[in-house]
Amino acid sequence: MNLDLIHQPYLENFPGDQSGDKQQRQTPKMVFSTTEIMGFDQAELISFNENLAVEIGLGKLGNSQDEDFLNASKLPDNIKTYATAYAGHQFGNWAGQLGDGRAIFAGEITNEHGKKTELQWKGAGATPYSRHADGRAVLRSSIREYLMSEAMHHLGVPTTRSLSLSFSGEDIVRDMMYDGNPQYEKGAVMMRTAESFLRFGHFELLSAQQETETLKKLTDFTITNYYAEISENDPQKYAELFQKIANRTADLMVEWYRVGFVHGVMNTDNMSALGLTIDYGPFSFLDEYDLSFTPNTTDLPGRRYAFGSQAKIAQWNLWQLANALFPLIKDEKILEKILNDFTENFWQKHDLMMADKFGFNELLEGDGEFFTNAQKVMEDLKIDYTLFFNKLERFENGMNLKDHFQDIFYHFLSEEESLQFSEFINLYFNRLAKNEISRAESNALMAKTNPKFILRNYLLFECIQEMNEGKKDLFLKLQKALENPYEELFPEFSKKRPALYNGQVGCSTLSCSS
Ligand code: AMP
Ligand code: MG
Repeated sequence: MNLDLIHQPYLENFPGDQSGDKQQRQTPKMVFSTTEIMGFDQAELISFNENLAVEIGLGKLGNSQDEDFLNASKLPDNIKTYATAYAGHQFGNWAGQLGDGRAIFAGEITNEHGKKTELQWKGAGATPYSRHADGRAVLRSSIREYLMSEAMHHLGVPTTRSLSLSFSGEDIVRDMMYDGNPQYEKGAVMMRTAESFLRFGHFELLSAQQETETLKKLTDFTITNYYAEISENDPQKYAELFQKIANRTADLMVEWYRVGFVHGVMNTDNMSALGLTIDYGPFSFLDEYDLSFTPNTTDLPGRRYAFGSQAKIAQWNLWQLANALFPLIKDEKILEKILNDFTENFWQKHDLMMADKFGFNELLEGDGEFFTNAQKVMEDLKIDYTLFFNKLERFENGMNLKDHFQDIFYHFLSEEESLQFSEFINLYFNRLAKNEISRAESNALMAKTNPKFILRNYLLFECIQEMNEGKKDLFLKLQKALENPYEELFPEFSKKRPALYNGQVGCSTLSCSS
Protein backbone atom coordinates (compact mmCIF):
# COMPACT_ATOMS: atom_id res chain seq x y z
CA MET A 1 0.00 0.00 0.00
CA ASN A 2 1.11 3.55 -0.63
CA LEU A 3 1.25 4.55 3.00
CA ASP A 4 3.75 7.27 2.14
CA LEU A 5 0.97 9.16 0.32
CA ILE A 6 -0.98 9.68 3.54
CA HIS A 7 -0.70 13.18 4.94
CA GLN A 8 -2.47 15.17 7.66
CA PRO A 9 -4.28 18.29 6.39
CA TYR A 10 -5.71 19.12 9.82
CA LEU A 11 -2.21 19.53 11.21
CA GLU A 12 -1.43 22.08 8.51
CA ASN A 13 -4.71 23.99 8.48
CA PHE A 14 -6.15 24.27 11.97
CA PRO A 15 -5.25 25.10 15.52
CA GLY A 16 -4.57 21.88 17.39
CA ASP A 17 -3.22 20.72 20.70
CA GLN A 18 0.05 19.06 19.75
CA SER A 19 1.29 18.53 23.31
CA GLY A 20 0.78 14.79 23.00
CA ASP A 21 -0.95 14.85 26.41
CA LYS A 22 -3.12 11.74 26.66
CA GLN A 23 -5.25 12.99 29.55
CA GLN A 24 -8.94 13.26 28.78
CA ARG A 25 -9.76 16.94 28.85
CA GLN A 26 -11.42 19.97 27.30
CA THR A 27 -9.36 21.45 24.47
CA PRO A 28 -10.88 24.91 23.97
CA LYS A 29 -10.14 26.69 20.68
CA MET A 30 -8.70 23.48 19.20
CA VAL A 31 -9.98 21.57 16.19
CA PHE A 32 -7.87 18.51 16.98
CA SER A 33 -5.34 16.99 19.35
CA THR A 34 -2.48 14.75 18.35
CA THR A 35 -2.79 11.36 19.98
CA GLU A 36 -1.31 7.88 19.73
CA ILE A 37 -2.72 4.53 18.74
CA MET A 38 -2.61 1.64 21.22
CA GLY A 39 -0.07 -0.38 19.29
CA PHE A 40 -1.79 -3.78 19.42
CA ASP A 41 1.03 -6.31 19.11
CA GLN A 42 -1.20 -9.41 19.04
CA ALA A 43 -3.65 -8.03 16.47
CA GLU A 44 -4.78 -10.15 13.56
CA LEU A 45 -6.35 -9.00 10.30
CA ILE A 46 -9.80 -10.51 9.70
CA SER A 47 -10.87 -8.78 6.52
CA PHE A 48 -9.48 -6.27 4.06
CA ASN A 49 -11.43 -4.36 1.42
CA GLU A 50 -9.01 -4.48 -1.50
CA ASN A 51 -11.36 -2.82 -4.01
CA LEU A 52 -11.80 0.18 -1.76
CA ALA A 53 -8.06 0.38 -1.03
CA VAL A 54 -7.31 0.49 -4.76
CA GLU A 55 -10.11 2.99 -5.44
CA ILE A 56 -8.86 5.52 -2.88
CA GLY A 57 -5.25 5.28 -4.04
CA LEU A 58 -3.84 3.15 -1.23
CA GLY A 59 -3.37 0.11 -3.42
CA LYS A 60 -3.19 -3.57 -2.57
CA LEU A 61 -1.92 -5.13 0.61
CA GLY A 62 1.82 -5.76 0.36
CA ASN A 63 4.30 -6.30 3.15
CA SER A 64 3.83 -6.73 6.89
CA GLN A 65 4.10 -2.96 7.36
CA ASP A 66 0.70 -2.66 5.66
CA GLU A 67 -0.89 -5.11 8.04
CA ASP A 68 0.72 -3.42 11.04
CA PHE A 69 -0.87 -0.19 9.83
CA LEU A 70 -4.37 -1.62 9.41
CA ASN A 71 -4.16 -3.46 12.74
CA ALA A 72 -3.11 -0.29 14.57
CA SER A 73 0.05 -2.11 15.64
CA LYS A 74 2.88 0.00 14.26
CA LEU A 75 3.00 3.01 11.94
CA PRO A 76 5.46 4.43 9.45
CA ASP A 77 7.04 7.75 10.45
CA ASN A 78 5.03 9.92 8.05
CA ILE A 79 1.79 9.10 9.83
CA LYS A 80 0.99 11.53 12.63
CA THR A 81 -2.20 10.51 14.35
CA TYR A 82 -4.86 12.86 15.72
CA ALA A 83 -8.41 13.01 17.04
CA THR A 84 -10.82 15.85 16.34
CA ALA A 85 -12.94 17.85 18.76
CA TYR A 86 -16.66 18.20 18.20
CA ALA A 87 -19.75 18.84 20.27
CA GLY A 88 -23.34 17.80 19.87
CA HIS A 89 -26.95 17.67 20.89
CA GLN A 90 -27.67 14.21 22.26
CA PHE A 91 -31.33 13.18 22.56
CA GLY A 92 -32.27 16.83 22.17
CA ASN A 93 -29.92 18.21 24.84
CA TRP A 94 -26.72 20.15 24.46
CA ALA A 95 -23.90 17.82 25.47
CA GLY A 96 -20.91 20.17 25.15
CA GLN A 97 -17.55 18.85 23.97
CA LEU A 98 -17.58 15.24 22.76
CA GLY A 99 -14.99 14.54 20.06
CA ASP A 100 -13.38 11.44 18.59
CA GLY A 101 -13.36 9.27 21.69
CA ARG A 102 -12.37 6.09 19.96
CA ALA A 103 -11.70 7.18 16.45
CA ILE A 104 -8.14 8.14 15.56
CA PHE A 105 -7.20 9.68 12.24
CA ALA A 106 -4.30 8.38 10.17
CA GLY A 107 -4.80 11.29 7.76
CA GLU A 108 -5.89 11.72 4.18
CA ILE A 109 -4.95 10.22 0.83
CA THR A 110 -5.65 11.59 -2.67
CA ASN A 111 -6.09 9.17 -5.58
CA GLU A 112 -4.98 9.62 -9.19
CA HIS A 113 -8.26 11.40 -10.02
CA GLY A 114 -7.75 13.92 -7.24
CA LYS A 115 -10.38 12.40 -4.97
CA LYS A 116 -9.64 12.83 -1.28
CA THR A 117 -10.31 10.19 1.34
CA GLU A 118 -9.79 10.37 5.08
CA LEU A 119 -8.76 7.28 7.03
CA GLN A 120 -9.41 6.52 10.65
CA TRP A 121 -9.27 3.60 13.04
CA LYS A 122 -12.16 2.90 15.32
CA GLY A 123 -11.21 1.17 18.54
CA ALA A 124 -7.47 1.94 18.47
CA GLY A 125 -7.34 3.40 21.98
CA ALA A 126 -8.25 6.38 24.11
CA THR A 127 -7.88 9.98 23.01
CA PRO A 128 -8.25 13.27 24.90
CA TYR A 129 -11.96 13.01 23.96
CA SER A 130 -12.67 9.58 25.42
CA ARG A 131 -14.48 10.99 28.47
CA HIS A 132 -13.69 8.19 30.97
CA ALA A 133 -14.24 5.48 28.36
CA ASP A 134 -11.48 3.22 27.02
CA GLY A 135 -11.39 4.10 23.32
CA ARG A 136 -11.68 0.40 22.43
CA ALA A 137 -14.33 -1.42 20.42
CA VAL A 138 -15.74 -4.92 20.82
CA LEU A 139 -15.83 -7.44 17.99
CA ARG A 140 -19.63 -7.49 17.96
CA SER A 141 -20.09 -3.80 17.19
CA SER A 142 -17.10 -3.72 14.84
CA ILE A 143 -18.50 -6.55 12.70
CA ARG A 144 -21.80 -4.69 12.58
CA GLU A 145 -20.24 -1.46 11.33
CA TYR A 146 -17.76 -3.21 9.03
CA LEU A 147 -20.45 -5.13 7.17
CA MET A 148 -23.25 -2.60 7.38
CA SER A 149 -21.44 0.41 5.96
CA GLU A 150 -20.46 -1.70 2.94
CA ALA A 151 -24.03 -3.00 2.67
CA MET A 152 -25.27 0.59 2.56
CA HIS A 153 -22.66 1.54 -0.02
CA HIS A 154 -23.68 -1.28 -2.35
CA LEU A 155 -27.33 -0.32 -1.90
CA GLY A 156 -26.34 3.10 -3.22
CA VAL A 157 -26.82 4.97 0.06
CA PRO A 158 -24.20 7.64 0.87
CA THR A 159 -22.06 6.33 3.73
CA THR A 160 -18.65 6.09 5.33
CA ARG A 161 -16.91 2.89 4.24
CA SER A 162 -14.96 0.00 5.71
CA LEU A 163 -11.35 -0.67 4.79
CA SER A 164 -10.33 -3.36 7.25
CA LEU A 165 -11.36 -5.31 10.31
CA SER A 166 -8.97 -6.88 12.80
CA PHE A 167 -9.00 -8.67 16.12
CA SER A 168 -7.19 -6.35 18.48
CA GLY A 169 -5.84 -9.34 20.37
CA GLU A 170 -7.26 -7.90 23.60
CA ASP A 171 -10.26 -8.90 25.64
CA ILE A 172 -12.22 -5.93 26.92
CA VAL A 173 -14.94 -5.57 29.52
CA ARG A 174 -18.42 -4.39 28.62
CA ASP A 175 -21.70 -4.30 30.52
CA MET A 176 -23.70 -4.90 27.35
CA MET A 177 -27.18 -4.31 28.78
CA TYR A 178 -26.05 -1.77 31.41
CA ASP A 179 -27.53 -4.08 34.06
CA GLY A 180 -24.53 -4.74 36.26
CA ASN A 181 -23.29 -7.80 34.36
CA PRO A 182 -19.93 -6.83 32.91
CA GLN A 183 -18.23 -9.51 30.83
CA TYR A 184 -15.08 -9.98 28.82
CA GLU A 185 -15.55 -9.74 25.08
CA LYS A 186 -13.17 -9.98 22.14
CA GLY A 187 -11.78 -6.59 21.14
CA ALA A 188 -11.48 -5.40 17.55
CA VAL A 189 -10.24 -2.47 15.54
CA MET A 190 -11.46 -1.38 12.16
CA MET A 191 -10.30 1.18 9.64
CA ARG A 192 -12.97 3.25 8.02
CA THR A 193 -12.87 5.86 5.29
CA ALA A 194 -14.89 8.84 4.12
CA GLU A 195 -14.35 11.83 1.90
CA SER A 196 -14.59 13.64 5.22
CA PHE A 197 -15.68 12.72 8.72
CA LEU A 198 -16.87 16.29 9.46
CA ARG A 199 -20.03 16.34 11.54
CA PHE A 200 -22.57 19.04 12.45
CA GLY A 201 -20.95 18.87 15.89
CA HIS A 202 -17.61 20.19 14.63
CA PHE A 203 -19.28 23.48 13.73
CA GLU A 204 -21.40 23.50 16.87
CA LEU A 205 -18.34 23.25 19.12
CA LEU A 206 -16.48 26.20 17.58
CA SER A 207 -19.64 28.28 17.49
CA ALA A 208 -20.44 27.59 21.16
CA GLN A 209 -16.91 28.65 22.05
CA GLN A 210 -17.37 31.83 19.98
CA GLU A 211 -14.26 30.91 18.01
CA THR A 212 -15.62 32.69 14.96
CA GLU A 213 -12.29 32.92 13.12
CA THR A 214 -11.67 29.17 13.40
CA LEU A 215 -15.31 28.45 12.58
CA LYS A 216 -14.86 30.48 9.41
CA LYS A 217 -11.65 28.62 8.61
CA LEU A 218 -13.33 25.24 9.04
CA THR A 219 -16.33 26.33 6.96
CA ASP A 220 -14.11 27.67 4.18
CA PHE A 221 -12.14 24.42 4.30
CA THR A 222 -15.41 22.49 3.92
CA ILE A 223 -16.44 24.56 0.89
CA THR A 224 -13.05 24.36 -0.83
CA ASN A 225 -12.61 20.64 -0.32
CA TYR A 226 -16.08 19.14 -0.40
CA TYR A 227 -18.42 21.70 -1.95
CA ALA A 228 -16.15 23.03 -4.68
CA GLU A 229 -19.22 23.97 -6.76
CA ILE A 230 -19.67 26.95 -4.39
CA SER A 231 -17.51 29.89 -5.42
CA GLU A 232 -15.11 31.11 -2.73
CA ASN A 233 -15.95 34.68 -3.77
CA ASP A 234 -19.70 34.25 -3.50
CA PRO A 235 -20.90 36.66 -0.77
CA GLN A 236 -23.67 34.14 0.06
CA LYS A 237 -21.30 31.17 0.19
CA TYR A 238 -22.05 30.14 3.78
CA ALA A 239 -25.80 30.18 3.22
CA GLU A 240 -25.20 28.24 0.00
CA LEU A 241 -23.26 25.68 1.95
CA PHE A 242 -26.05 25.33 4.48
CA GLN A 243 -28.57 24.89 1.66
CA LYS A 244 -26.45 22.15 0.13
CA ILE A 245 -26.00 20.35 3.44
CA ALA A 246 -29.77 20.53 3.96
CA ASN A 247 -30.34 19.08 0.47
CA ARG A 248 -27.88 16.26 0.97
CA THR A 249 -29.44 15.50 4.36
CA ALA A 250 -32.92 15.36 2.80
CA ASP A 251 -31.58 13.04 0.10
CA LEU A 252 -30.03 10.81 2.73
CA MET A 253 -33.29 10.56 4.66
CA VAL A 254 -35.13 9.57 1.47
CA GLU A 255 -32.55 6.87 0.89
CA TRP A 256 -32.95 5.56 4.44
CA TYR A 257 -36.71 5.35 3.86
CA ARG A 258 -36.19 3.61 0.56
CA VAL A 259 -34.21 0.73 2.05
CA GLY A 260 -35.85 0.78 5.50
CA PHE A 261 -32.80 1.84 7.51
CA VAL A 262 -33.10 3.12 11.07
CA HIS A 263 -29.95 4.79 12.40
CA GLY A 264 -30.93 4.70 16.04
CA VAL A 265 -28.74 7.56 17.37
CA MET A 266 -29.33 10.66 15.27
CA ASN A 267 -27.55 13.03 17.64
CA THR A 268 -26.01 16.05 15.92
CA ASP A 269 -22.54 14.62 16.51
CA ASN A 270 -23.61 11.66 14.35
CA MET A 271 -24.76 13.86 11.44
CA SER A 272 -22.32 14.14 8.58
CA ALA A 273 -21.64 17.55 7.02
CA LEU A 274 -21.43 15.67 3.70
CA GLY A 275 -24.76 13.89 4.02
CA LEU A 276 -23.24 10.47 4.69
CA THR A 277 -24.53 7.73 6.95
CA ILE A 278 -22.01 7.84 9.79
CA ASP A 279 -21.38 6.14 13.16
CA TYR A 280 -23.08 2.78 12.96
CA GLY A 281 -24.26 1.81 16.43
CA PRO A 282 -27.63 0.32 17.39
CA PHE A 283 -28.96 0.59 13.81
CA SER A 284 -31.35 -1.79 12.12
CA PHE A 285 -33.09 -2.44 8.87
CA LEU A 286 -36.82 -2.77 9.24
CA ASP A 287 -38.15 -6.30 9.22
CA GLU A 288 -41.86 -5.58 9.75
CA TYR A 289 -42.88 -2.10 8.66
CA ASP A 290 -43.28 0.05 11.75
CA LEU A 291 -42.97 3.82 11.80
CA SER A 292 -42.47 3.82 15.57
CA PHE A 293 -39.69 1.24 15.53
CA THR A 294 -36.43 2.23 17.20
CA PRO A 295 -33.67 -0.35 17.48
CA ASN A 296 -31.91 1.56 20.28
CA THR A 297 -32.88 0.43 23.81
CA THR A 298 -31.72 3.80 25.18
CA ASP A 299 -34.23 5.47 22.87
CA LEU A 300 -37.17 3.32 23.93
CA PRO A 301 -38.92 5.66 26.34
CA GLY A 302 -39.29 8.58 23.88
CA ARG A 303 -38.69 6.87 20.53
CA ARG A 304 -37.06 10.10 19.38
CA TYR A 305 -35.09 8.25 16.73
CA ALA A 306 -37.84 5.96 15.46
CA PHE A 307 -37.95 5.05 11.76
CA GLY A 308 -40.83 7.40 10.99
CA SER A 309 -39.25 10.34 12.85
CA GLN A 310 -35.93 10.41 11.05
CA ALA A 311 -36.71 13.18 8.54
CA LYS A 312 -38.19 15.39 11.26
CA ILE A 313 -35.14 14.81 13.46
CA ALA A 314 -32.82 15.55 10.54
CA GLN A 315 -34.56 18.91 10.25
CA TRP A 316 -34.22 19.51 14.00
CA ASN A 317 -30.52 18.73 13.69
CA LEU A 318 -30.23 21.16 10.78
CA TRP A 319 -31.67 23.86 13.05
CA GLN A 320 -28.73 23.26 15.37
CA LEU A 321 -26.33 23.53 12.45
CA ALA A 322 -28.04 26.75 11.35
CA ASN A 323 -27.51 28.18 14.84
CA ALA A 324 -23.87 27.16 14.69
CA LEU A 325 -23.31 28.81 11.30
CA PHE A 326 -25.30 31.93 12.21
CA PRO A 327 -22.22 34.01 13.17
CA LEU A 328 -21.04 33.58 9.55
CA ILE A 329 -24.40 33.99 7.81
CA LYS A 330 -26.10 36.56 10.09
CA ASP A 331 -29.35 36.31 8.19
CA GLU A 332 -32.17 34.62 10.09
CA LYS A 333 -34.62 34.89 7.21
CA ILE A 334 -32.50 32.94 4.76
CA LEU A 335 -31.78 30.22 7.32
CA GLU A 336 -35.45 29.94 8.27
CA LYS A 337 -36.43 29.65 4.65
CA ILE A 338 -33.98 26.82 4.00
CA LEU A 339 -35.17 25.03 7.13
CA ASN A 340 -38.84 25.46 6.27
CA ASP A 341 -38.28 24.36 2.67
CA PHE A 342 -36.65 21.20 3.97
CA THR A 343 -40.04 19.62 4.72
CA GLU A 344 -41.49 20.14 1.26
CA ASN A 345 -38.22 19.25 -0.40
CA PHE A 346 -38.05 16.02 1.58
CA TRP A 347 -41.67 15.01 0.84
CA GLN A 348 -41.31 15.70 -2.87
CA LYS A 349 -38.25 13.48 -3.11
CA HIS A 350 -39.85 10.95 -0.80
CA ASP A 351 -42.92 10.58 -3.01
CA LEU A 352 -40.82 10.25 -6.15
CA MET A 353 -38.86 7.51 -4.39
CA MET A 354 -42.07 5.75 -3.33
CA ALA A 355 -43.31 5.93 -6.92
CA ASP A 356 -40.12 4.12 -8.00
CA LYS A 357 -40.63 1.50 -5.29
CA PHE A 358 -44.13 0.79 -6.58
CA GLY A 359 -43.01 0.90 -10.22
CA PHE A 360 -44.93 4.07 -11.17
CA ASN A 361 -43.20 5.97 -13.95
CA GLU A 362 -44.56 9.31 -12.74
CA LEU A 363 -46.46 10.82 -9.85
CA LEU A 364 -50.18 11.19 -10.46
CA GLU A 365 -52.78 13.00 -8.43
CA GLY A 366 -53.79 10.87 -5.48
CA ASP A 367 -50.47 9.04 -5.26
CA GLY A 368 -49.64 10.80 -1.99
CA GLU A 369 -52.77 9.29 -0.42
CA PHE A 370 -51.99 5.94 -1.99
CA PHE A 371 -48.57 5.92 -0.30
CA THR A 372 -50.07 6.90 3.06
CA ASN A 373 -52.59 4.12 2.67
CA ALA A 374 -49.80 1.68 1.78
CA GLN A 375 -47.91 2.67 4.93
CA LYS A 376 -51.01 2.05 7.01
CA VAL A 377 -51.61 -1.37 5.46
CA MET A 378 -47.97 -2.39 5.92
CA GLU A 379 -48.06 -1.25 9.54
CA ASP A 380 -51.49 -2.69 10.43
CA LEU A 381 -50.72 -6.09 8.95
CA LYS A 382 -47.10 -6.23 10.16
CA ILE A 383 -45.75 -6.72 6.67
CA ASP A 384 -42.07 -7.28 5.95
CA TYR A 385 -41.03 -4.07 4.18
CA THR A 386 -38.42 -5.60 1.85
CA LEU A 387 -40.21 -8.84 1.01
CA PHE A 388 -43.43 -6.96 0.28
CA PHE A 389 -41.98 -5.03 -2.66
CA ASN A 390 -40.12 -8.09 -3.97
CA LYS A 391 -43.36 -10.08 -3.93
CA LEU A 392 -45.36 -7.24 -5.46
CA GLU A 393 -42.94 -7.08 -8.37
CA ARG A 394 -43.44 -10.82 -8.98
CA PHE A 395 -47.21 -10.94 -8.63
CA GLU A 396 -48.95 -11.72 -11.87
CA ASN A 397 -52.47 -12.22 -13.11
CA GLY A 398 -53.92 -15.57 -12.23
CA MET A 399 -51.69 -16.11 -9.20
CA ASN A 400 -53.25 -16.96 -5.87
CA LEU A 401 -52.96 -13.87 -3.72
CA LYS A 402 -52.85 -15.71 -0.41
CA ASP A 403 -50.22 -18.21 -1.48
CA HIS A 404 -48.02 -15.64 -3.14
CA PHE A 405 -47.87 -13.25 -0.19
CA GLN A 406 -48.19 -15.71 2.69
CA ASP A 407 -44.60 -15.41 3.98
CA ILE A 408 -44.44 -11.66 4.40
CA PHE A 409 -46.67 -11.17 7.47
CA TYR A 410 -45.45 -11.19 11.06
CA HIS A 411 -48.84 -12.23 12.38
CA PHE A 412 -51.82 -14.30 11.24
CA LEU A 413 -54.33 -12.24 9.33
CA SER A 414 -57.92 -12.14 10.49
CA GLU A 415 -60.55 -12.36 7.78
CA GLU A 416 -60.99 -8.62 7.97
CA GLU A 417 -57.26 -8.08 7.56
CA SER A 418 -57.10 -10.44 4.58
CA LEU A 419 -59.81 -8.34 3.01
CA GLN A 420 -57.91 -5.12 3.81
CA PHE A 421 -54.88 -6.63 2.08
CA SER A 422 -56.65 -7.82 -1.05
CA GLU A 423 -58.42 -4.47 -1.39
CA PHE A 424 -55.07 -2.77 -1.24
CA ILE A 425 -53.65 -5.06 -3.93
CA ASN A 426 -56.65 -4.22 -6.13
CA LEU A 427 -56.06 -0.53 -5.59
CA TYR A 428 -52.43 -1.05 -6.51
CA PHE A 429 -53.15 -2.79 -9.79
CA ASN A 430 -55.73 -0.18 -10.69
CA ARG A 431 -53.12 2.49 -10.16
CA LEU A 432 -50.45 0.48 -12.00
CA ALA A 433 -52.79 0.30 -15.01
CA LYS A 434 -52.45 4.09 -15.35
CA ASN A 435 -48.71 3.74 -15.99
CA GLU A 436 -47.39 4.86 -19.34
CA ILE A 437 -44.74 2.17 -19.27
CA SER A 438 -45.13 -1.59 -19.71
CA ARG A 439 -45.28 -3.99 -16.77
CA ALA A 440 -41.80 -5.21 -17.71
CA GLU A 441 -40.44 -1.66 -17.56
CA SER A 442 -42.27 -1.06 -14.32
CA ASN A 443 -40.76 -4.25 -12.90
CA ALA A 444 -37.30 -3.13 -13.98
CA LEU A 445 -37.82 0.13 -12.09
CA MET A 446 -38.93 -1.80 -9.01
CA ALA A 447 -36.00 -4.20 -9.29
CA LYS A 448 -33.44 -1.43 -9.16
CA THR A 449 -35.22 0.47 -6.37
CA ASN A 450 -36.14 -2.36 -4.02
CA PRO A 451 -33.30 -4.41 -2.60
CA LYS A 452 -33.57 -8.20 -2.70
CA PHE A 453 -31.06 -8.50 0.10
CA ILE A 454 -30.86 -6.42 3.25
CA LEU A 455 -28.41 -7.11 6.07
CA ARG A 456 -30.98 -7.91 8.73
CA ASN A 457 -29.99 -7.62 12.36
CA TYR A 458 -30.64 -11.28 13.04
CA LEU A 459 -28.15 -12.21 10.29
CA LEU A 460 -25.57 -9.98 11.91
CA PHE A 461 -26.41 -11.56 15.27
CA GLU A 462 -25.80 -15.06 13.90
CA CYS A 463 -22.64 -13.92 12.14
CA ILE A 464 -21.28 -12.44 15.39
CA GLN A 465 -22.06 -15.62 17.31
CA GLU A 466 -20.18 -17.67 14.74
CA MET A 467 -17.23 -15.30 14.60
CA ASN A 468 -16.95 -15.50 18.38
CA GLU A 469 -16.62 -19.26 17.93
CA GLY A 470 -13.95 -18.75 15.29
CA LYS A 471 -16.20 -19.51 12.29
CA LYS A 472 -16.10 -17.18 9.30
CA ASP A 473 -18.40 -18.86 6.75
CA LEU A 474 -21.48 -16.75 7.33
CA PHE A 475 -19.38 -13.56 7.42
CA LEU A 476 -18.01 -14.35 3.95
CA LYS A 477 -21.41 -15.30 2.61
CA LEU A 478 -22.97 -12.10 3.92
CA GLN A 479 -20.19 -10.12 2.26
CA LYS A 480 -21.10 -11.68 -1.10
CA ALA A 481 -24.78 -11.04 -0.59
CA LEU A 482 -24.35 -7.41 0.45
CA GLU A 483 -22.19 -6.66 -2.57
CA ASN A 484 -25.13 -7.65 -4.80
CA PRO A 485 -28.19 -6.41 -2.94
CA TYR A 486 -30.43 -6.13 -6.00
CA GLU A 487 -29.94 -9.82 -6.84
CA GLU A 488 -31.04 -12.87 -4.99
CA LEU A 489 -27.79 -14.81 -4.66
CA PHE A 490 -28.86 -16.77 -1.60
CA PRO A 491 -32.60 -17.57 -1.40
CA GLU A 492 -32.19 -18.49 2.29
CA PHE A 493 -31.61 -14.78 3.04
CA SER A 494 -34.89 -13.78 1.34
CA LYS A 495 -37.09 -14.65 4.26
CA LYS A 496 -38.53 -12.74 7.14
CA ARG A 497 -36.89 -12.69 10.59
CA PRO A 498 -37.39 -16.13 12.20
CA ALA A 499 -39.84 -16.06 15.11
CA LEU A 500 -37.21 -17.23 17.57
CA TYR A 501 -35.55 -13.82 17.24
CA ASN A 502 -38.67 -11.78 18.00
CA GLY A 503 -37.79 -9.35 20.78
CA GLN A 504 -34.32 -10.86 21.13
CA VAL A 505 -31.77 -8.28 22.28
CA GLY A 506 -29.08 -7.97 19.63
CA CYS A 507 -31.62 -8.75 16.90
CA SER A 508 -34.57 -6.43 17.10
CA THR A 509 -33.18 -4.06 19.69
CA LEU A 510 -29.66 -3.19 20.72
CA SER A 511 -27.98 -1.22 23.45
CA CYS A 512 -25.45 1.48 22.65
CA SER A 513 -22.71 -0.51 24.36
CA SER A 514 -19.96 -1.11 21.88
P1 AMP B 1 -21.77 7.54 19.86
O1 AMP B 1 -23.01 7.38 20.67
O2 AMP B 1 -21.13 6.23 19.45
O3 AMP B 1 -21.92 8.47 18.72
O4 AMP B 1 -20.68 8.17 20.86
C1 AMP B 1 -20.84 9.40 21.51
C2 AMP B 1 -19.51 9.87 22.04
O5 AMP B 1 -18.96 8.90 22.95
C3 AMP B 1 -18.47 10.09 20.96
O6 AMP B 1 -17.74 11.24 21.30
C4 AMP B 1 -17.63 8.84 21.04
O7 AMP B 1 -16.33 9.05 20.57
C5 AMP B 1 -17.65 8.50 22.53
N1 AMP B 1 -17.46 7.07 22.78
C6 AMP B 1 -18.33 6.06 22.57
N2 AMP B 1 -17.79 4.87 22.93
C7 AMP B 1 -16.55 5.12 23.37
C8 AMP B 1 -15.47 4.30 23.89
N3 AMP B 1 -15.55 2.98 24.01
N4 AMP B 1 -14.33 4.93 24.24
C9 AMP B 1 -14.21 6.26 24.11
N5 AMP B 1 -15.16 7.08 23.66
C10 AMP B 1 -16.32 6.53 23.29
MG1 MG C 1 -20.80 9.02 17.36
